[in-house]
Amino acid sequence: MIPEPDGLERGGKPTLIGYTKEELCTLFEGWGMKPYVGRIVYGWLYGKGMIDFDEMTNVSKDLRGRLSENYSVGRPEVVKDLCSCDGTRKWLFRLACGSTVETVYIPEEDRGTLCVSSQVGCTLNCSFCHTGTQRLKRNLTAAEIVVQVMAARDMLGCWERRDGRFLTNIVLMGMGEPLYNVKHVFGAVKLMTDGTGLGFSKRKVTLSTSGVVPMIGEVGRELDVKLAVSLHSARNEVRNELVPLNKKYPVEELIEACRNYPGLSNAKRITWEYVMIKGVNDSEEDAHALVRVIRGIPSKINLIPYNSWSGSAYERSDEAAIDRFAKILLRAGYASPVRRPRGEDIMAACGQLNSDVSQQVVMSA
Ligand code: SF4
Repeated sequence: MIPEPDGLERGGKPTLIGYTKEELCTLFEGWGMKPYVGRIVYGWLYGKGMIDFDEMTNVSKDLRGRLSENYSVGRPEVVKDLCSCDGTRKWLFRLACGSTVETVYIPEEDRGTLCVSSQVGCTLNCSFCHTGTQRLKRNLTAAEIVVQVMAARDMLGCWERRDGRFLTNIVLMGMGEPLYNVKHVFGAVKLMTDGTGLGFSKRKVTLSTSGVVPMIGEVGRELDVKLAVSLHSARNEVRNELVPLNKKYPVEELIEACRNYPGLSNAKRITWEYVMIKGVNDSEEDAHALVRVIRGIPSKINLIPYNSWSGSAYERSDEAAIDRFAKILLRAGYASPVRRPRGEDIMAACGQLNSDVSQQVVMSA
């Protein structure tokens, strides 16, 4: 089965990126070759990060020529490559169709995390999120999602050093709601976690949703990766404002779906993302409400001091309020690290992504 056109074509040629191992085997069988050729090409593509078919020294010259004539392994154009003073990097990629997406790399001492986008824009209009102001243009294909990881490995020069601290973790937490693009997100995650290809451990891949309840169980059953939920309030009246999807899938239904997430244990906890917004969701009462609703669920809570953007109606909570909130969670037995904002100076922090070039001009003015 040939993947759909994916916006990565170079010089009119479709890309091989996005093909599964089975699809490559089928392609080469169709060319009268043994299926194992598909496995060899797959290893070069996702295991070694080949950017030119001539790198494949263990396949025939004829095949390399035929592949070059018909396919590409091109990466998207890098429109911007911004480096924050804290080491965070943000790339703005332009796809062949002209749409742009953002991808963020967050280095830490013992690991490197890549925050990957799944849509161009978003339909969900979470009121604290800059991406939510960018109208949804379209879903990204599996190829366009996975190529963000491959392009990051190119730019970090870490194809050979995957066990080091360079690029160890993936979070699907960039632009878009992954569970509104299930087919392609699932395809991309399967490519990321295939041990003979990109090779990320399932424990190092996290899918973040704002609460598309009917699909939550499927994530655990099909992908078996970690789940993060953009909760931001345990109270429906507040969450309705912050995450309007809550009107469709209220807190009780969301929590129930998470409680039943396959494979939950103390080693595989749900991560609750909680943006701390002054006077909106940061009171002691809010903290107690959070503790009440997640009781009994193996959980970790990420407290994220709100990151502002031009035109936003909200302000970051005071440190004292964040501290009070965190202490209540800690007393209730929940690890609740306060996430130091990363990449704020390049608008790469949580909730700040927006690949709309016209809006980027306004921001930097
Ligand atoms: S928080 Fe996520 S789901 Fe909500 S608007 Fe932003 S990108 Fe979309």
